[in-house]
Amino acid sequence: MATLFSKIVHGEIPADIVYQDEMVTAFKDINPIAPVHILIVPNKEIATVNDVAPEDEQMLGHMFVVARQVARDLNIDQSGYRLLINCRGDAGQEVFHLHMHLLGGRKLGPMLAK
Ligand code: AMP
Repeated sequence: MATLFSKIVHGEIPADIVYQDEMVTAFKDINPIAPVHILIVPNKEIATVNDVAPEDEQMLGHMFVVARQVARDLNIDQSGYRLLINCRGDAGQEVFHLHMHLLGGRKLGPMLAK
């Protein structure tokens, strides 16, 4: 069954898409935790970081290039931002389609709550 994010990639459910190409799609998180909260997802379904394969290397690198571009487009490249990927239960992964969170627009505080 298609993942929630696959449905967004293919336009089957609505999302505020800020960037899309043949490899990745970037859209606004529906429940933002920072003024800028974008999800960058592979168009291909990959459940978690555990499931990436050597043939995904180009696409995974491309996710960083897109993150840099979206950060620039949204004017947070100079103020700074955080890129975050959750993997499985202890990290709190909710959607099992690999995604990179791009967070910024305010001071983000320490990386982990103590
Ligand atoms: P994670 O906990 O890393 O799996 O993050 C999943 C993220 O997906 C959360 O920040 C959710 O707010 C976000 N999310 C869930 N459903 C949607 C949706 N339909 N459109 C945009 N973001 C979503």
